Amino acid sequence: MLLWPKAKCFLLACLSLLSPFTWAQNLPASSLKNGSLPMQYDADVIVVGAGFAGLAAAKQLHDQGHSVLLLEARERIGGRAHTVFDGEQAIEMGANWLHGQDNNPLVALAKEQGINLSPATQWRETIVYDEFGEEIDDAGALLGRWNHVVENYLAQYLRREPNASIQMLMDDAQKSGDLGFVSDELHSSFINFMFEQDWSADAADLSVQAAEDGEDYLGGDPIPLQGFLPLQQHLSENIRIRLGHQVSAIQQSKEGVEVIAQYQGQQTALRSKRALITVPVSVLQAGNIGFTPPLSARKREAINVIGMGQLNKVWLKFPEVFWDQNHAILRVGPEKGRFSLWVNIHAVSGQAYLLALSTAGNLEAGSDAEIVEEAMLGLRAIYGDEIPEPSKRYISRWQNDPFSLGAYSYLRQGGRPEHRDILAEPEGLVYFAGEASQREFPATVHGAYLSGLREARKIHASLPAVAERQESVELNRDISSDREGSFRQ
Ligand SMILES: Cc1cc2nc3c(=O)[nH]c(=O)nc-3n(C[C@H](O)[C@H](O)[C@H](O)COP(=O)(O)OP(=O)(O)OC[C@H]3O[C@@H](n4cnc5c(N)ncnc54)[C@H](O)[C@@H]3O)c2cc1C
Repeated sequence: MLLWPKAKCFLLACLSLLSPFTWAQNLPASSLKNGSLPMQYDADVIVVGAGFAGLAAAKQLHDQGHSVLLLEARERIGGRAHTVFDGEQAIEMGANWLHGQDNNPLVALAKEQGINLSPATQWRETIVYDEFGEEIDDAGALLGRWNHVVENYLAQYLRREPNASIQMLMDDAQKSGDLGFVSDELHSSFINFMFEQDWSADAADLSVQAAEDGEDYLGGDPIPLQGFLPLQQHLSENIRIRLGHQVSAIQQSKEGVEVIAQYQGQQTALRSKRALITVPVSVLQAGNIGFTPPLSARKREAINVIGMGQLNKVWLKFPEVFWDQNHAILRVGPEKGRFSLWVNIHAVSGQAYLLALSTAGNLEAGSDAEIVEEAMLGLRAIYGDEIPEPSKRYISRWQNDPFSLGAYSYLRQGGRPEHRDILAEPEGLVYFAGEASQREFPATVHGAYLSGLREARKIHASLPAVAERQESVELNRDISSDREGSFRQ
């Protein structure tokens, strides 16, 4: 049984010799195994995935003189940070904020690149409405009190029941009467606001270890006003990128790594001295990339114990502003996570948009029209039936996207922050980056960026010094100006 997939990979690798996109002379895949012919490389390093992790690594390695080839499955760069434009307004379908300004390397890079940042979002001044549209005046004070109780429970659970879920802890706290000062609906809404939105995960599936998962930069959360795209364009300058290349297999030998990719229905095999995999952990969980030899049991366990959450964005453009001028609006709705949290984009850019963040698992099943109708029901409950219909909508569907299969990573029950370090461990000549592998700042764009730099350092240290490879540097200079025809964004 086990021999068949290997034989199939071998056959497919041979077929890939026909691909016009493999610019170096191809060798049969068997040369990997018997070592009878010297391997010829398409690049020193092949990076798989052009999100912030892949772009950061590719730029650093390129700047250090290594030849780099970046393979990206989508027809665009950026991954889960995806900016589209409605005139002047940058619409972020994925990442929106730079979380923390102090020491955040992407804030520094944005400033260096002249990218304007909004003032930090004032989450503390979020206005809170109940289900019927009545403002809950003392919501801020209640949230502070609620948080204090929950922190005490978290400290105890981390000691006594480190494998429990956040929901178990919350049920315990609620049953004990310690949270008797908030209604069940408000309790549920606070869980969503404080935990589920943060980790894009259902509290029943989120480990209490989430409380110790990662760190925060201070200084508040600004939004890049021109979106994340200019930062990505800067990182991708002079990098050879092949879009539309879906990697399906990674095969390594002592000599190097063979990366098998599908491009427009054809298979191509590319060879490098090292490979860096930056695809979302959910893509690894789904087994969409086969590894030969297989990944270690330790790595597979880490991949499976890290969850991938659900979070989507619904942007609505209105002909006029009818909502509060607070930066965020929370409605304690009948179903938590479904159009409960709104961000007032008018306060950010002066344009009449509202942005809903939804952690609801089944949101993506609805049609665009159904999703907008449901969103409008919630808004009408607060602002009345006379509010205008939206003139435009932008709706993300990250769960159903085969190249993300979710929003961002979290620790499932049984998961520990150390699993992120295991995810980051190289396996032979194959390296791993991406937000899920960044223990200090998981689930963020800066975490993804830092993970790319981390692996670039490891790869650089593992390759012969650039000075000893002058010939390769000359080759790199030649090809860096020769960006592939498939590069688009
Ligand atoms: C709705 C939403 C809101 C978010 N909000 C924020 C926020 O406000 N602030 C923040 O800091 N972070 C936020 N995040 C998280 C942030 O977007 C991610 O942590 C970060 O972008 C991940 O970068 P990455 O490089 O690790 O992965 P990705 O960006 O996912 O990059 C991986 C790349 O691999 C490619 N790929 C996948 N499979 C293959 C394959 N087989 N072959 C080749 N290529 C492949 C993908 O197309 C993708 O381009 C948000 C995410 C979402 C979805």
